[in-house]
Amino acid sequence: MAHPHPADLHFPNPLSYIPMKIAVLPGDGIGPEITTEAVKVLKALDLNLQVEQAPVGGAAYQETGDPLPESTLNLARRSDAILFGAVGDWKYDQLDRALRPEQAILGLRRQLRLFANLRPAICHDELKNASSLRPELVSGLDLLIVRELTGGIYFGEPRGRRTATDGRFPGAPEAFDTMRYARPEIERIARMAFEAARLRGGKLTNVDKANVLETSQFWRDTVIDVHKSYPDVELEHMYVDNAAMQLVRKPKAFDVIVTGNLFGDILSDEAAMLTGSIGMLPSASLNEKKQGLYEPVHGSAPDIAGQDVANPLATILSAALMLRHSLQQPEAAARIESAVDLVLASGLRTADIFSEGTTRVGTQAMGDAVVAALGAQ
Ligand code: NAD
Repeated sequence: MAHPHPADLHFPNPLSYIPMKIAVLPGDGIGPEITTEAVKVLKALDLNLQVEQAPVGGAAYQETGDPLPESTLNLARRSDAILFGAVGDWKYDQLDRALRPEQAILGLRRQLRLFANLRPAICHDELKNASSLRPELVSGLDLLIVRELTGGIYFGEPRGRRTATDGRFPGAPEAFDTMRYARPEIERIARMAFEAARLRGGKLTNVDKANVLETSQFWRDTVIDVHKSYPDVELEHMYVDNAAMQLVRKPKAFDVIVTGNLFGDILSDEAAMLTGSIGMLPSASLNEKKQGLYEPVHGSAPDIAGQDVANPLATILSAALMLRHSLQQPEAAARIESAVDLVLASGLRTADIFSEGTTRVGTQAMGDAVVAALGAQ
């Protein structure tokens, strides 16, 4: 009997036997509703996924007294990627800072060393009229903000309250924070941004406040040094106040923006508005091993929680980013993204992106439509 040619033997990819581990942390407010839809979409892809869920934020505080219980942190540590809903609710505003739901996200970023936050701002053509800018300014917009996430003024020590002993108001109560960046911290985020720019339009805009802040001048000097390893990428520098203006004046002039924690926080929300709805924007937070936490840019929206009106697309698109950046499944990621395009092209809209002539649907129906569009590909 003739033996088959080796090329005709179809051994399954051994790696496909190892499930990709995803921790799902739904959180508070609309978090459970939107993560449910994203998991529904992931499961429709027929990949070898192992999905495990754990409480985080206010929900975890209610259950365990801790917004980031050890068991949740351990699950996150041993997962390839984390799909995160959102945390926070005004009802927890009176708690000590250490117990507030937001501490969970800060803790996860710190514990997993998620230093790079990638926030694409893409204006889907169907939604260009929902932007606060004129459609011609945003149609075709596709920019990426790379924000440093674990340093800068949000984490700098010392910080606190005290009685001023010097300065302009000696003897008065005062509060203070510290902005500091170490050179390796700037180098690694700059490298991540140059590499991202290399894969896109080849242009990087460094945003800082080097005319005023010592930290910013040091940041800029370091970015210029790192640029020597990426001569093929065009580098420009912009002060943050100017960047805030240019984002609404001529947003399509940007390709990739790299910036520190504080400026990135603000600019990425501004960029979010250009795209029509905060309910459309995914984000990725990565560490050096490319383990990542994926979450929508928006918060827990307690005002609309439990009403089946939240837009799940930012979370579904975050799942696509997860497949691309942490799970090495770029085709599956692209399938989700085109399914979302198809659904938008068919005229389905959640309340936040609804306009006349389109069809309003709820959270679950939007998730079902994306699953159906995956099947139609
Ligand atoms: P938010 O993003 O939750 O909501 C702002 C507005 O956008 C609200 O009107 C809300 O209804 C709407 N919105 C947000 N997501 C939406 C979606 N998917 N579909 C339709 N509409 C949507 O911001 P906020 O109101 O300032 O904060 C609410 C809570 O969320 C606070 O407790 C805050 O601390 C928390 N928060 C959490 C995160 C996070 O978990 N990463 C981020 C930001 C805010």
